[in-house]
Amino acid sequence: MFPVDISMAIFFYVMTSLLAIFVLWIFFEKKTALPKFVREEADVWECKICTYTYVDSTHQEISQCPQCKSYNKKSPEERLF
Ligand SMILES: [Zn+2]
Repeated sequence: MFPVDISMAIFFYVMTSLLAIFVLWIFFEKKTALPKFVREEADVWECKICTYTYVDSTHQEISQCPQCKSYNKKSPEERLF
């Protein structure tokens, strides 16, 4: 084994500690990916009377426009996004 003085020992100690922190940082950074925002297609409605676009997740077929209070029926080919 080669002779190691105190400064070299401290240098290796600091470098291995920093390397361990860096590896753990990369490891946990990859695990904590932000969840992607997924919008339900059926939740977005566009009013046929006032063209107001709103979100209504409680109704599937017929929804009431919050602006002009008219009813809108959703057909599959008219879905937004
Ligand atoms: Zn409307």
